[in-house]
Amino acid sequence: MNLLNFILNFPDEESCIAHFKAQRDQIGIVCPKCGSTKHIWLKNKLRYECTHCHHRQSIRRGTVLEFSKLPFRYWYVAMHLLTSTKKSFSASELQRQLGHKRYQPIWEMHKKLSDIMGKRDNEYQLSGQIELDNAFITTLISDDCKQQNLKRGAGSQNKSKVLVMTESIVVENPKPGKKPKKINHIKMQVVPDLRADTAVEIVKEQIDSKAELTTDDSKTFFKLHQAVESQKAQVIEPEDLQKILPWVHISIANVKRLLLDMHHQLKKEYLQYYLNEFCYKFNRRYFGEKMFDRLVFAAANYNTDFKSRIYNRSLCG
Ligand SMILES: [Zn+2]
Repeated sequence: MNLLNFILNFPDEESCIAHFKAQRDQIGIVCPKCGSTKHIWLKNKLRYECTHCHHRQSIRRGTVLEFSKLPFRYWYVAMHLLTSTKKSFSASELQRQLGHKRYQPIWEMHKKLSDIMGKRDNEYQLSGQIELDNAFITTLISDDCKQQNLKRGAGSQNKSKVLVMTESIVVENPKPGKKPKKINHIKMQVVPDLRADTAVEIVKEQIDSKAELTTDDSKTFFKLHQAVESQKAQVIEPEDLQKILPWVHISIANVKRLLLDMHHQLKKEYLQYYLNEFCYKFNRRYFGEKMFDRLVFAAANYNTDFKSRIYNRSLCG
């Protein structure tokens, strides 16, 4: 949605609440106490009341807005900015645009939206022709880990390991200079290690078992026949990379450039959220103004455990 339409459609808190309620009504309200789907709307309390047992639930319950005290309009502005800009929008820029005093709640809102973007994309598996490779993305490590000696190179704790998967369609008779494959959807998943069993687990989750997989011949990929029917694992000379795994390497270069441009102080434990946002937007690059509508619908559909997950987790590793 462009800026003028956004301002027209969502001039105030009421218009955002009315729109969000319409999304929730479309999904359907279920009473958590008795399972009834019949409710009356208590406009002044922003709650649904079950007509059967009179249990009340907030309009935010079960959505990404649950546990957030921020106005609906903040969420709507954030969703507008995240879907209408080509690159990314940092939390500090969001804070500046919203004129909000505290950084933390805006930062959390940003991460929660990235979390549900990942949840939405996780509902789909990639299929057809898939390129798969790993990438090492430089991230900061937490202060607790800084005391330990850092390893050098790819095994270093400040390089996060990511499996990158791209789905593409073979182009019949490609024009000279054009690629033989057209890219469709992508996925990027932070992994704790590059063991073969880890790769099998991720591929089983993210890729359709009938897909045709292309990889190099590294040990990480040598058990993938357990996850897909067809895998072409081959020795790839650096000069052939562009020919055999073109899209996976373009995607890696693009995400690295974006992260470098936008987020200089990228912490390891938040990398997946940035990757979620990058993939979500890439996968919907032809949606145009509809990307905003889709994100609002996802916001009403998905809950997030972002906060508890961060605070309960060890940051080293
Ligand atoms: Zn009930």
